[in-house]
Amino acid sequence: MTPGEDSVAGTSRNLPDRRRLRAISRRLLAWFERSARKMDWRDTDDPYRIWVSEIMLQQTRVDAVTPYYRRFVSAFPSVRALAEAPLDQVMKLWEGLGYYSRARNLHLAAKVLLREHGCRLPQEPHRLATLPGIGRSTAGAVAAIAFRKDSPILDANAKRVLARLFAVQESLTRPSVEQTLWEMSRGLILPGKGRETALALMDLGATVCTPRRPACPACPLHAHCEGYREGRQETIPARRPKKVLPHHDMVAAWIADGKGRVLVGRRPDRGLLGGLWELPGGRRRPKEARGEALRREVREGWGLGIEVGDRIASIPHGFSHFRITLHAYRCRRTGGRPQTDREWRWVHSEGLADLAFPRAYRRLIETVFPKEGKEKPPPRLR
Ligand code: SF4
Repeated sequence: MTPGEDSVAGTSRNLPDRRRLRAISRRLLAWFERSARKMDWRDTDDPYRIWVSEIMLQQTRVDAVTPYYRRFVSAFPSVRALAEAPLDQVMKLWEGLGYYSRARNLHLAAKVLLREHGCRLPQEPHRLATLPGIGRSTAGAVAAIAFRKDSPILDANAKRVLARLFAVQESLTRPSVEQTLWEMSRGLILPGKGRETALALMDLGATVCTPRRPACPACPLHAHCEGYREGRQETIPARRPKKVLPHHDMVAAWIADGKGRVLVGRRPDRGLLGGLWELPGGRRRPKEARGEALRREVREGWGLGIEVGDRIASIPHGFSHFRITLHAYRCRRTGGRPQTDREWRWVHSEGLADLAFPRAYRRLIETVFPKEGKEKPPPRLR
C-alpha cells in the first residue's frame, strides 16, 4: 500500500487527494462561518465547560442538553467544585438526561484532575482519553474546541457526513473502515482550523446531512459529495434492520413506615442506572403474578414480608436495548427489618425530591405526590 491509501473492508480505498480535501474544507468552513449554531458552551473558552458539554452531548440532542448544562455548570462552576461535590448531588442534576454512567465518570474524572492535574484538563487528545468517560472522539473534540488543537473528531454526525461524502458503503463499525474515516476527518483539517472543522462537521451532520432525508441541494458540499452524486445519500450508512426490543415487567413496592416516610434503596454504582435510587422490587418472572413477584423480590432483596395493596400506577419506559413497564403497588410491611447490601433510607416526600431517581420512578413519585406536595389517595385500578 502506498502512502495515501488505506484498506476498507478488505479492499484498497484511496484517501481523497489533498487538493480535493482542501476544497471541501474551505467550503465547509465558509458555510460554518455563516451558519454556526449558537449554544451556551460555544460562548466560553473554559475547557471545563466545554468538556461538560461534550459529555452531555453524547447521544443527546442540543435542546435536551441546554437546560441540564446550565444547571450543572451553575451548581459546579469548576473542576474543583465538581470533584468536591457529593455524587448524589451530581446524579440529581443529571436526573432525566439518561446514560448515567456519563455523570459518574465525569465526577470520577474531576477527582482525577483534582488529585493529579491541579484541576486542569490535559490539552493533548491522547492524555484526555486516559480520563474516565472520555473516548477518542470526545478527546479530539475537547482538544480541538477548548485548546485549538488540530485534532480530528469522529462522533456520529462526523461519521455520517464523511461516509456519505466519500461514499463509504461498508459497515462503519468495522475497525478498518473506522480507521479510514479517522484519516478522512484528519485530512479535512486546514492548519490552525481544528476547532472550526470539528464544530462545522457536528453542525452539518445535525442540521443538513441529517440521518434521514439529508438536505443535499442546500448542502455546501454537494458538488463534492460522492454519496449524493451516486444517489446513495439515504442508504449510507447502511441501516441495521430494526430489532423488536424485549419487554420486561418490573414491580415496585411503595412501603410507608407510618411516619410519612417511604423506603428507598440505591442501585449499585456499576451497571444500568448505577447510583440512582429506586423502590424495593425487581423483575417479574415469566408466569409469575405481579403480587407474587413483588413479595418474592422484597423478601429476597430486602428481608421484608409485605402485603400488596392497591396499584398506584403502571408506567412504561424505553431504554436503548429493551422496554419496561413499572407496576407500582402500595404495600404494608408485615414483618422483618430492611436487610440489604445496598444503601437504603426511609425518606419523607421532600427528601424524595432531593434524590436522583430513574425517569419511571420519578413519574411514579409525581403520581403519588403531585406538584402541590400533598399525598394523593391511591387510585382504584383493580
Ligand atoms: S450532499 Fe447530501 S449526503 Fe453529501 S454531505 Fe451534503 S447533505 Fe450529506
